[in-house]
Amino acid sequence: MVNVSVLSQNPAAVNCGIITGSHRTLIIDSGPGPSAADRLVRRAQQLSLEVAGRENPIEAVITHDHWDHFFGSATLAGAGVEIFHVSESFAGDQEATAWIALDAVRTAPETAEFASELPEDPNELLVKVSPVAAPESGAMIDLGDCRVEFHVLGGHSTADLVVRLVDDGIVFTGDLVEEGAPPQVGTDASLSEWVASLRILLSFSEATVFVPGHGVPVDRDFLEHQLADIDGLRMDQADAEVALPARVMPGDHDRSLPREQVICPACAGQ
Ligand SMILES: [Zn+2]
Ligand SMILES: [Zn+2]
Repeated sequence: MVNVSVLSQNPAAVNCGIITGSHRTLIIDSGPGPSAADRLVRRAQQLSLEVAGRENPIEAVITHDHWDHFFGSATLAGAGVEIFHVSESFAGDQEATAWIALDAVRTAPETAEFASELPEDPNELLVKVSPVAAPESGAMIDLGDCRVEFHVLGGHSTADLVVRLVDDGIVFTGDLVEEGAPPQVGTDASLSEWVASLRILLSFSEATVFVPGHGVPVDRDFLEHQLADIDGLRMDQADAEVALPARVMPGDHDRSLPREQVICPACAGQ
């Protein structure tokens, strides 16, 4: 039996995944800081006992180098997570990004209070990482009855690693997809690469559920709309009035924070 759950926590309402296979557990993104990561790893351990009936070894994968997705890594490492799958780009940039982002989190008014739980020294946020072999190679690991592929794409950031659960029709997209708020386009974004990446996600023919970096899980229709939005912005970049809209999934969704959503069992693939 396999369990796929999403924990959504503040600050930044970031989504972190917990995939529990029969002999390994994978955490997707370590979250914004120590307390979120601590909740994440404790929940992963509980789920492992409930689902697999044993204490699975836990690995982690980081989708991209924005602080809310990886500042919890050192806490996971302290709790025994030894393997962090990342893109080559993340491996090369981790240190510089941590230095710059820690300063930004401390000075931004909306995160200044939260920053008190972060270390003074950005080096304390760093972990030893395992770069995914070749970009776009679709490197695969087996968690036990659950095959997981890593694809290194890009566009939202210099490298966006997506996690594809081939047997379950689920893809964790990082911030290549965002629900409930406009996709965040920073100086490290490339709209043409972003469009190409969303086309690749749509080429995963088994995929029916896409878990965005922020917001509730979305379907293929949502992805098509977001692709059109980003492609439109790409073509109209000279027009400063053009902005990406916030798209929401139709229907009633629990948007409370923190929240936990079980996607599988009960997912389309089962
Ligand atoms: Zn991001
Ligand atoms: Zn994000």
